[in-house]
Amino acid sequence: MEEILFTKEEQELIDLIKYFRDMVLINEETPPYNRLILQEEIDYLNSEITTIIQFAKGKTEYRKAKELEHYNKWNTKIDQKCPWCKKMVFSNALGEIKMDDGFTYSQYFCPSCHMNFEGSEPNNNNDMILFTEKFLAEMLKKGKGGRVNYEINGISFEQMKKRRANIEGLKEKVKKSMKENKEIEEANNEFMAYVLNELIRLRIAKKKFITENDIQE
Ligand SMILES: [Zn+2]
Repeated sequence: MEEILFTKEEQELIDLIKYFRDMVLINEETPPYNRLILQEEIDYLNSEITTIIQFAKGKTEYRKAKELEHYNKWNTKIDQKCPWCKKMVFSNALGEIKMDDGFTYSQYFCPSCHMNFEGSEPNNNNDMILFTEKFLAEMLKKGKGGRVNYEINGISFEQMKKRRANIEGLKEKVKKSMKENKEIEEANNEFMAYVLNELIRLRIAKKKFITENDIQE
């Protein structure tokens, strides 16, 4: 079976709709006219469920990619030199921080000297593109002084040139995916607003239904 990733809200809404749908009872005693109305109600609730499933299905690939991106960001262990005590640290990111340059970096902890330090380059592609361009521009401007400065941070000019070549290709991809992601996010937000509205309405309806039936008993 094809896997569909639902958000917590979508799942709860589906459960609530099913709860109300299963309450609609049609049997031999139901008069034909009522039968029609009740069947319409069931059809409507079923179509609501289908809408949610279809939406989630269309977004599953994107949601999976996002989950993977998130997983990798926090679970990929890398080997790097602690800038304080110069010992090698093999660790995954424990946090992230936006620095003065406006880029976001992963944060690591050095078990030898018990200090936190930031990765030597941004932890996301969007920042990485600007970072590389800025780096190369500054290197050219400052000449050797600039180069030494960056090498202290553990990135060599040669590495950065190589990085840039890779990134040139990545740039178009990121641009494209940023545009696509933005469109997906917008559609997602719009749908989530609808899901939340329905959720609130049905939560209240269920609560009211349960309370009223408690009183009658
Ligand atoms: Zn250290």
